[in-house]
Amino acid sequence: MTVARILATKGREVLTAQPHRTLKEVAEILAARGIGAVVIADVQGSVLGILSERDIVRAVGRRGAKALDDAASMHMTTQVVTASEDETVLATVEKMNAGRFRHVPVLKDGRLAGIVSIGDVVKYRLAEMEHEQSALREYIAAV
Ligand code: AMP
Repeated sequence: MTVARILATKGREVLTAQPHRTLKEVAEILAARGIGAVVIADVQGSVLGILSERDIVRAVGRRGAKALDDAASMHMTTQVVTASEDETVLATVEKMNAGRFRHVPVLKDGRLAGIVSIGDVVKYRLAEMEHEQSALREYIAAV
């Protein structure tokens, strides 16, 4: 099963923020949208990094509340691991496990084409398992 399948259900919107945005502003976006990470991008939409709730907590833990006035660029991860649409969901989860992160932006021709979180994968896998189970039940009932 591919990443494109998940994006077809959840949509392709990716919340981005520019690198000069403060941690406070990013935290407001995360809270308002109920998400755990934003992709940091320039005005052209090129990916510069990713900033997750964990980066914000780490910054506040180290520097106290004044970290909330820091720019996102100071605390984002710049080596962003990405996926392509035709990659399998399993390969993407393996990347998440290996790198210990929960978000993977999806790129198509170098441009953002979606984002997959561990929550999306779990939701998708549960739906798939329920579907398999009911297909099996129907099959058993029919024989
Ligand atoms: P998360 O589990 O997504 O909240 O992220 C945990 C840490 O990994 C944070 O420092 C993030 O900046 C970083 N991170 C999140 N997603 C990615 C990614 N796709 N590639 C590289 N680092 C990431």
